Amino acid sequence: MNYVSSLKCVICEKEYGVDETLYVCPHHGDSGILDVRYNYEKVSEQISPQTLSQGGPHSMWRYIPLLPIDQSIATESQKDQQPNLPFFSVGWTPLYRPQTLEKQFGLAGVHVKDDGCNPSGSLKDRASALAILKAKELGFDVVGAASTGNAASSLATLSAGLGVKTIVFVPATAPQAKIAQLLVCGATVLTVNGGYDEACDLCLSACTAYGWYNRNTAYNPYMTEGKKTVAYEICEQLHWQVPERIFVSVGNGCIIGGLHKGFRDMLALGWIDRMPRLMGVQAGAAPLYHAWLHGIDPLDMTLMETKTIADSISAGFPRDRVKAMRAVVESSGAFISVTDEEILGAIPKLGSDLGVFAEPAGAAAYAGFAKVLSERMISSNETVVVLVTGTGLKDVASAIKSVGEPIPIEPTLDDVEKALRL
Ligand SMILES: *Cc1c(COP(=O)(O)O)cnc(C)c1O
Ligand SMILES: [Zn+2]
Repeated sequence: MNYVSSLKCVICEKEYGVDETLYVCPHHGDSGILDVRYNYEKVSEQISPQTLSQGGPHSMWRYIPLLPIDQSIATESQKDQQPNLPFFSVGWTPLYRPQTLEKQFGLAGVHVKDDGCNPSGSLKDRASALAILKAKELGFDVVGAASTGNAASSLATLSAGLGVKTIVFVPATAPQAKIAQLLVCGATVLTVNGGYDEACDLCLSACTAYGWYNRNTAYNPYMTEGKKTVAYEICEQLHWQVPERIFVSVGNGCIIGGLHKGFRDMLALGWIDRMPRLMGVQAGAAPLYHAWLHGIDPLDMTLMETKTIADSISAGFPRDRVKAMRAVVESSGAFISVTDEEILGAIPKLGSDLGVFAEPAGAAAYAGFAKVLSERMISSNETVVVLVTGTGLKDVASAIKSVGEPIPIEPTLDDVEKALRL
């Protein structure tokens, strides 16, 4: 039992019952991404800022009435003190308020939410957890996913011990740590000779041909629903004060679409009274940034060649482009494009100012924040949240690129003194 009322196509706005389609609008095919709609009246009988203040699991499962899954998972997640698998501890990641940054930048509030603290080290866990539950509920034994690395490693990590087999398609160029994570957690890993966009299409065909459940971002409407939980957490952790802006990196656009959905839910429920500006940070060819800048309809976008050190946002044809564009436009936000150099500069900034070790796509959000700040586009009374979406342990090679090599010495004090110029 859950409170989903319908699935609504983002193109034609036609609504479907949850049993009428598994993934997309039958009339619009792969582009007919669906929005999951809820009966908010029923939801509000179950959950509110008041009920949340009384407790609940310290994980995304504290928001179960707002998720498209059977409520019985709640029983299991009550054991939150000692979750029996990483699966049950997804979400409720720390929101840091580094006062040094507020002083440095002269802003009313700067917060950094570290979603690298999720079980598999990225925000993708919020979506993968739902994919696994949905697959089980619908009776699938196998889940397929195309991924630049994190969606897949998250799916593999969270399905461990739950009896779901995972088959993943990743670009051959994915960082080694992500591939190692996949293999260790028991996924069948197919490294596709091509980029993410090819892996995505191949996974789609394979899921259809072999009857696997498809976790592909955007195509599976429930992925947005998992990712939106980060919006609830930001508001709850800020005691229901809405920040002025949230900076988040954007590849396919599912995370920013999820943030937008989370805030729309909270507005509809009366938990908050306004929407923050959603600031989408892109790198490489930055297709959504360009479409936004030139007023191009997301439905008219075509595949662009793209290359960036931030592999997690290297998507030349953003699959969730409609929701991503809507998120930025409807929230009066903006898209920002950052260079690889700016991202490499942001990695040690986040590390040395805050102790947050981010992978390039995670640091991209901070690079976007720094860029907008340097252009004096944020006023001093604003509160800002920077969402770090993945841990730096995912891509150590890029981290080293950002800071250079350590100092080699002989095991003598002499060498220590020379090295430190004492
Ligand atoms: C997937 C991912 C993103 C981008 O999310 P989209 O939904 O594709 O826009 C950003 N950062 C990290 C670390 C990711 O894994
Ligand atoms: Zn449609």
